Amino acid sequence: MNYGYSNRVILHCDLNNFFASVEAYHNPDLNNYPTAVCGSVDDRHGIVLAKNEKAKKYGVKTAEAIWQAKQKCPDLVCVPPHYDEYVKFSKAVRQIYYDYTDMVEPFGMDECWLDVTGSTMLFGSGEEIAHTIRKRVKEEIGLTISVGVSFNKVFAKLGSDLKKPDAVTVLSQENFKEKIWHLPANSLIGIGPSTARALERIGLRTIGEVASCKPKTLELEFGKCGLDLWRNTNGFDCSPVVDVSEQPMAKSYSKGLTPPKNLTNDGEINALFVSLAESIAHSMRQDGVMARVVTISIRDENLITIDRQKRLENPTRLIERLVGTAMELFRENWSWNKEVRSISIRVSDFVRENEFCQYSLFTDNAKEDKLEKLQKQVDDIRGKYGKNSIVRASAMNTVKHEEDKEVYNSFHPKF
Ligand SMILES: [Mg+2]
Repeated sequence: MNYGYSNRVILHCDLNNFFASVEAYHNPDLNNYPTAVCGSVDDRHGIVLAKNEKAKKYGVKTAEAIWQAKQKCPDLVCVPPHYDEYVKFSKAVRQIYYDYTDMVEPFGMDECWLDVTGSTMLFGSGEEIAHTIRKRVKEEIGLTISVGVSFNKVFAKLGSDLKKPDAVTVLSQENFKEKIWHLPANSLIGIGPSTARALERIGLRTIGEVASCKPKTLELEFGKCGLDLWRNTNGFDCSPVVDVSEQPMAKSYSKGLTPPKNLTNDGEINALFVSLAESIAHSMRQDGVMARVVTISIRDENLITIDRQKRLENPTRLIERLVGTAMELFRENWSWNKEVRSISIRVSDFVRENEFCQYSLFTDNAKEDKLEKLQKQVDDIRGKYGKNSIVRASAMNTVKHEEDKEVYNSFHPKF
């Protein structure tokens, strides 16, 4: 079998305790205390987004509720996140990566894969390049990274987990079996808790056990993903490092509507915002972006227009948050002494989803994650069966008005 790609040199660079380290960069005192960066500190739903080494020793975990973390570590110092700072540091670190290759693929704000296959003649072996980058990030940026060096992305990623902080781990064709095959299967990217449980049911616990299993057996058990499991554990992953930063990104999306009759109450406005937001969110999902600014335009019966905008603390493309923000702006700026002729929503200031894949951690994570998945499924169904195959209950009247099509189904998730 020819798996090609096996001579690649791939690095996975992971900033250590990224958010917490940026906070400590600005306020070195934090290094003396167990510290966690927490979403919505005052809110009982607040969760831990990141923690420093001291907090880790108390067993504080990312994504757990603040109250749980404080039970383990009563003196935990909670600081709010500073998203703009993280973006700034993330970009600065990436600039260093670009000195060694133009094939840089971000994974979240703190991780990147680098394909340095073509750079080894100039800068030395993968391991040497890894150390050079590690030192530069420490000296020039003031943060530490751990780097995994391997011949595929999956192992490079695992390598960066094995030794931290401020360290380099090489997983080569020669040493990977000895170094990682004894580790639990779920240490590998792509093997989540449910896959790990399913693997355990057929007696496979370690990476090596999965790798030594017959591909046919894994395929029968897991379908096509079974073959991925076999390939990834054996080091045959050949997915390329994709440089996404070069792809152009739209500046904004907007969508407006002038209904057949003037609007006279909040309920009607809300229903229209829902259908506008659905269409905008769909475009954002297709383009893989999320927005940080929501603007609404309200045109009154005399055709006078006002624009109002709000900057979101965290980027989104969830219909619920877009509508919520639009309604908030509307209520703050409209007193109903006139009827409304038309409204529109615009979203702008985009971030790419793969640069912000921890976005759900910033808000009410599990719920938003579920909504995001649901909305993707709705997109798929609409792609197959037409735009009105699924319609939200709150937007049903509008859709009938607009397009006079039959509504087959109602869609009304409970929040
Ligand atoms: Mg990290």
